[in-house]
Amino acid sequence: MTLPLCSLLMLTQAESEGSAIGINLAYVASAILFILGMRMLRSADTARKGNQLSSLGMLMAIVATLLSQGLDYKWIAMGVAIGAFIGLVAAKKVKMTSMPEMVALFNGFGGLASLLVAAYGFIDPGQDGHDTFQTLVICLAVTIGAVTFTGSMVAYLKLAGKISGNATLFPLQKLINALVLIVIVGLGVILTGNLPDIGDFAIKPIETFVWLVGLTLLLGIIGVLPIGGGDMPVVIALLNSFSGLAASAAGFVIQNNVLIVAGCLVGASGLILTVIMCKAMNRTLGNVLFGGFGADGSGASAEVEGEMKPVSVEDAYYVLESAASVVFIPGYGMAVAQAQHAVKELGEILEENGCEVAHAIHPVAGRMPGHMNVLLAEADVPYEQLREMDDVNPTIATVDIAVVIGANDVVNPAALEDEGSPIYGMPIINVHQARNVFCLKRGQGKGFSGLVNRLFFRENVRMLYGDAKETITALVAQFKD
Ligand code: NDP
Repeated sequence: MTLPLCSLLMLTQAESEGSAIGINLAYVASAILFILGMRMLRSADTARKGNQLSSLGMLMAIVATLLSQGLDYKWIAMGVAIGAFIGLVAAKKVKMTSMPEMVALFNGFGGLASLLVAAYGFIDPGQDGHDTFQTLVICLAVTIGAVTFTGSMVAYLKLAGKISGNATLFPLQKLINALVLIVIVGLGVILTGNLPDIGDFAIKPIETFVWLVGLTLLLGIIGVLPIGGGDMPVVIALLNSFSGLAASAAGFVIQNNVLIVAGCLVGASGLILTVIMCKAMNRTLGNVLFGGFGADGSGASAEVEGEMKPVSVEDAYYVLESAASVVFIPGYGMAVAQAQHAVKELGEILEENGCEVAHAIHPVAGRMPGHMNVLLAEADVPYEQLREMDDVNPTIATVDIAVVIGANDVVNPAALEDEGSPIYGMPIINVHQARNVFCLKRGQGKGFSGLVNRLFFRENVRMLYGDAKETITALVAQFKD
């Protein structure tokens, strides 16, 4: 859940004294709706309703804030108009495959909004000094907001391919990052502690504050640059959590209760997602953030014995036609090809043919958490056919045919067998154990990690080359002929 920029800015206006109770009651109702909505996101059946409920909560919070007195509606209207226009155009234009970039931008602007709110809190001419707590929350909002902003921009540039997706390491990188962090903490202590001037070395708060902002912006850049593109999903989930924490700290700055609650919810849910994704990759968060995964391209050109054996659509059809059980394993390529509707049609035909059909979903398949679930739900694939990795793996050896649709990293057996592989230890869907495997992809393209996939060279594996949608449509046509 990312806080829209305009909502955040509107929530920055102070409540008037007279309507404070009414406004706070509305905020409590909003918080309850947020929590109920998030709870409903746990199941695909109720997710849509949950989203609507949370949106209603946000609408209530915005209306309650707008009813506060002393607001300058001219500026708010301008902000809403500009933000709504940009958001509408971006949402209409964004491709499903570019969603992670979009989420990275959302997180970044959420962080920037908190940074600006907190910075205004610091320099606000109407304020006559700040107590220790106020300065502390200002420093926290600025620091987390700035790191979120620049970190998300780097994540966006990496995902969009505008800069190299590889982990960019530079000499003494960890030491420099640590030093920058130490200086930031020191500046925070100086500001919060309100240390007295010492002779010639007078510490001017505003200059210290500017250094704090500058260095935290820098930390976001040098913190994310050394993280490889393959780890970006985890980074984005973590930055999402940061954007929530920054908003929460900004809520303390302007004493807005619903902003504190909503920020905490985003912070906590982002952190839980981060932990789930780390587990799905069998990595620690420390390894993701500081491991420099993929920097040397290790494993990318590893020699693999054997050859990739192609199969024609006609031959694949004959095998599928006689199969008693088929498991589809979708990956990023299915999203690129937008093959989900064709996959659903093929699944229905196979079921009519007496075959048992399932779709095995890896937690980090595609380019965002839940990517495959969203696509298959959009195509109305029955929920009961969607199976999680841990449910499928124990029985995969009994499956007649595993059909890998544009998945690569999430089915790479190197994760189980090659201790030298960078993805060693990452849980995968064990399709190599199925009786027969068809891999649908366009050519020799590698997966997101850039690693060679040993699966494609196995005895029981046949390559079905071509765009996934075209291939599956051709298979459907064979069944209909
Ligand atoms: P991969 O990125 O490993 O592989 C995708 C494969 O799809 C490629 O090998 C490509 O091969 C094939 N492909 C591309 N376009 C088409 C098409 N039109 N038709 C058929 N095939 C196509 O995808 P996975 O889903 O297996 O793995 C996800 C990876 O992305 C993991 O490494 C994960 O860490 C990372 N990631 C995950 C995120 C998430 O939150 N889920 C977010 C960001 C990254 P070819 O070019 O030969 O067609």
